[in-house]
Amino acid sequence: MKLIACLATIVLLGHSSFAQKQDKIFDVHLHGDPKQQEQLDALKANGVRTIAVSTSWSMQQTYKSDKSLKVLQGLMLPCPNGKVPYSLQPCFEDGREWPDPKWVEEQVKQKRVHFIGEVLSQYYGISSSDSAMYPYYSIAEKYRLPVGIHTGSAGPDHGCPDFKEEMGNPLLLKQTLAKFPNLRVWLMHAGVPFLNECIEIMKAHPNVYADISVLNNPRIIPAGEFSTIMKKFIDAGLEDRLMFGSDNGPIYLAVKSVEQLSFLTSAQKEKIFYLNAERLFGK
Ligand SMILES: [Zn+2]
Repeated sequence: MKLIACLATIVLLGHSSFAQKQDKIFDVHLHGDPKQQEQLDALKANGVRTIAVSTSWSMQQTYKSDKSLKVLQGLMLPCPNGKVPYSLQPCFEDGREWPDPKWVEEQVKQKRVHFIGEVLSQYYGISSSDSAMYPYYSIAEKYRLPVGIHTGSAGPDHGCPDFKEEMGNPLLLKQTLAKFPNLRVWLMHAGVPFLNECIEIMKAHPNVYADISVLNNPRIIPAGEFSTIMKKFIDAGLEDRLMFGSDNGPIYLAVKSVEQLSFLTSAQKEKIFYLNAERLFGK
């Protein structure tokens, strides 16, 4: 046993010198990867213990919890032209864009869906408060499932011709929050570049959280910019509602980006790495 523990430490150090510190990370923003085993091994080696996965329905079923990793299953919708953005695999086997709400409720009851997300309304070219979303919000509210909504910008080559940057504004969610006051929501990518709008809606609605995926990837957002964004959230008093996510970026860099923020206390880091997510997901 000792030898195994020793080897495990070496592997951890090989990935990141920060890996030893955090060992309860909750990654709220993850998608399927054709090299699933490598993906999961890297997550575990860097201290991730819980993941919220959303990908095509068929790939989703291949992600299973084991003794060192808890898997929470999402439900992507709506799927532009029936496809998952970027990977362009069919969301559902029959090619539909919107799953039947009755079927969704059945999956929720059978514990095959633990959260609604990634909500792709923006990639579909509609508002997050479009009434077409209401049946799903209604199910989420009824079963107390968190809803993760893509907000802000998108990377290149997503393959969704109707994508609209302006539909990524977090303030669009106001109507929904008025109609579903108990809905638990998180704004994926913290709405950036609509950062002020994200902060505004979070301050007004205690049920609204945000994930910092992509922002914590220094290959996409420079470290200095990430630091400025995080400082703004902390100064706005939102440290209890920021959540770690990697969005399939290099996990050791994503963890390191947060660890490097010198203005965060270790208690604040714990909130961001897992405590806030555990509260939102009702642990
Ligand atoms: Zn996203």
